[in-house]
Amino acid sequence: MSRLESFIRRMTAQRDCLDAAAALIADLPGCVLELGLGNGRTYDHLRDRLPGREIFVFDRQIGAHPDCIPDAEHFYLGDILEQLPLAAARLGRTAALIHSDIGTGDKARNARLVAVLAPMLADMLVPGGIVIADQEMPQDGWEPQPLPAGVPANRYFLYRARG
Ligand code: SAM
Repeated sequence: MSRLESFIRRMTAQRDCLDAAAALIADLPGCVLELGLGNGRTYDHLRDRLPGREIFVFDRQIGAHPDCIPDAEHFYLGDILEQLPLAAARLGRTAALIHSDIGTGDKARNARLVAVLAPMLADMLVPGGIVIADQEMPQDGWEPQPLPAGVPANRYFLYRARG
């Protein structure tokens, strides 16, 4: 498979997972947390699929297309582990959907981050809320959900908080 084909598959899987997650919260009130603005692709997709939902975005830098930069009220700039407590104090347990896309090629670093991150996210997720992540994110009270058809296992990870 060429690198182009591999990229297309990865992006297609990500889009399909985001669409599945958006459908799963269709009847669940709450905001969205987007961890990792990057160039703004998935943020833009979520705001397209979930019109009217507040989306709060986290990144340590602003590197997105100018059209895909959230306003200051909806953007937490800085290390996620420092910013999430501020968001939790403000938002409480109001997130219906959390999308985490902050993994790197460093597996040990990813595992360390997820171990600290997941309990913080669990405190912000409403019962029945959905987590979708580029990293495995085991957490008490979260049940793994099947991925959309065609998305290979371990490409993305989908969880629902017990209601
Ligand atoms: N979903 C994005 C998109 O569609 O464009 C891509 C996200 S990119 C793969 C990962 C982003 O996570 C980077 O912009 C990086 O700065 C951010 N990031 C990684 N670790 C972070 C941390 N500990 N705190 C804040 N941001 C972090």
